[in-house]
Amino acid sequence: MKRIYMDYAATSPTHEKVVEAMSPYYSEIYGNPSSVHSFGQEARDAVEGAREKIAKLIGAKPEEVFFTSGGTESDNWAIMGTAYANQSKGKHIITSAVEHHAVAEPVEFLKKNGWEVTVLHVDKFGLVDPEDVKKSITEKTILVSVMHANNEIGTIEPIAEISKICREKGVTFHCDAVQTTGAIDVKADELAVDLLSLSGHKFYGPKGVGALYIRKGTRIERFLRGGGQERGRRGSTENVPAIVGMGVAAELAGKEINERHEHLTPLRDKLIKGVLEKVDESILNGHPTKRLPNNANFCVKYCEGEAMLLNLDLKGVAASSGSACTSGSLEASHVLLAIGLPHDIAHGSLRFTIGRMTTEEDVDYVIDILPGIVKKIRDISPLYKKK
Ligand SMILES: *Cc1c(COP(=O)(O)O)cnc(C)c1O
Repeated sequence: MKRIYMDYAATSPTHEKVVEAMSPYYSEIYGNPSSVHSFGQEARDAVEGAREKIAKLIGAKPEEVFFTSGGTESDNWAIMGTAYANQSKGKHIITSAVEHHAVAEPVEFLKKNGWEVTVLHVDKFGLVDPEDVKKSITEKTILVSVMHANNEIGTIEPIAEISKICREKGVTFHCDAVQTTGAIDVKADELAVDLLSLSGHKFYGPKGVGALYIRKGTRIERFLRGGGQERGRRGSTENVPAIVGMGVAAELAGKEINERHEHLTPLRDKLIKGVLEKVDESILNGHPTKRLPNNANFCVKYCEGEAMLLNLDLKGVAASSGSACTSGSLEASHVLLAIGLPHDIAHGSLRFTIGRMTTEEDVDYVIDILPGIVKKIRDISPLYKKK
C-alpha cells in the first residue's frame, strides 16, 4: 500500500541535501567548536556558517542568532529569560489563547510563581485583535508573546501590527515562528520582533535543533547555565551536525520559498474544496485566506477525530487531530475551543498538513476515501443516528 504523509506540521522529512551536508560532521569533522586546535576550529567555522545562513533567512545579523535544542527551548528561553531579566520593571505577561504548549506552559508556570498573565481571546478564525494587545498593556507589562502562525489551524496572526504597539510602549515582543519559517516570509525587521523562535525539523532540517533570534539590546536572562557557548548566553556543546543541517535547510528555504508556495497553495485549496464538498456537515477551521499554504483543518460533525485518524492510517494516510488522547481521556484542543467551537464539534477535528512530497494524486486520494471513512464512523455513532 502506498503511504501518504500529510502531517508536515508535526515534523518534516529531513531534506536529502541536509542529510548530505550533516554527514561529515559526525565522524570526520568532530571537534568541539570551543577547542582552540584545528579540529575545533573546523567545527567552529561550520557553526558560524550555519548561523549566517539562518540570519540571512530571517534578515538578521548573525550575532543575533542563538542555537538551541529546538522550538520548545527557544520558546521557553524567550519567556523565562524575559520574565527573569525584567523582574524589577514588572511582572505582567500578555499572550494569546492559541499559543503552542511550548509558550503556554512556561507562561502558566510563571503565573503559578507570582507573575500576572493576560491571555488574549481570538476571533472565530483564531485571529488576535491588535487593539486588545494595546488595551491590555500596563506599566507592569514586560512581555507580549503571540505566535506567527498557528500550528493547528494555520491562521497567520497580524504580527507587524502587534509588534508596532509593543515597540511604542517599550514592551519586549516574542513571536513563535516555528510554523512559518520556510513556509512564508519571516523577516525579523519587517515583523519588528525582539525575540523569534525557530525549529529545524519543521522546515526539512533535523530534529533537536532550533534557534532563538534575540534583537540586539533585548534584555534576556540565560536559560541554560553552563559553559560559555553561544557567546556566554547558552551553555552546552553545540550540536554541530544538526546546526549545519539547519543552516542548509534555511538556505534551501530561502531559495525555494516561492516554488514551495506555488506547489502547496493550489493543493491546499483543492483539498479544502474537495473535503467541504464531499463530506457533508464538515467545516473549515482557521482563516480562509490568512492561513499557512500547507494547512487544511476541518471539523467533521458526528465523527470522532481519533476514529478518522485510525481509519485514514489503515488506508495509508497520515494526518493529525486536535484531540489528543491523553491518559485515556479525550481532551479537546485548546485552539479549537478558543475559536468558539463546542466540545463535541472540536472532537471531530482533522488536520492535513502537506509538504514537498505531496502530489495532486495524494490530494485526490484523500478526497476520494474520506467520505467513506466518515460514513463508516457515523453509521455506528449514536449521535448521528439520533439526528
Ligand atoms: C513544533 C512547534 C514547536 C516546538 O518545536 P520543537 O522543535 O518540536 O521543540 C513550537 N511551536 C510551534 C508553533 C510548533 O509548531
